[in-house]
Amino acid sequence: MKTKFLKPEFVEFMPSSLEDGVVYVSMEYGTVIHSCCCGCGNKVVTPLSPTDWKLIYDGENISLTPSVGNWSFPCQSHYWIKSGKIEWSEKFSKEQIDEVRRKDKHFKATHFKQNVTQKLESKTADIQYAETKANLVMVILRKLSSFFQ
Ligand SMILES: [Zn+2]
Repeated sequence: MKTKFLKPEFVEFMPSSLEDGVVYVSMEYGTVIHSCCCGCGNKVVTPLSPTDWKLIYDGENISLTPSVGNWSFPCQSHYWIKSGKIEWSEKFSKEQIDEVRRKDKHFKATHFKQNVTQKLESKTADIQYAETKANLVMVILRKLSSFFQ
């Protein structure tokens, strides 16, 4: 039976058996888990991260973006969770699924590269700062040594 509504339950650890119609949210682990809304019973894990899913909690219900596409399950169900309501989306063709996966991979790769570049840039700035400080010390030392001559 298809689920029409998901009620959030905030937990620290995920329960071993998932109740239909409940979406389990663990802020500690940045993970959201629910039982596939088509009723197939597969566990759907949607990690929260800048390159994965985003969670909106309005105080009563949750929304997840982007949509949930269970391409690896036999059911291949695809739906949105909007304020707890399940909005069914069209089934994707193999080409569409490949396209989504390709874009996701590209997005993750560029996001990761950006992070690495930012870290490298701040490292370079640190080194430059250290060099300036070292130069300053040298100047002071030279001044001091000329003073004592
Ligand atoms: Zn399913």
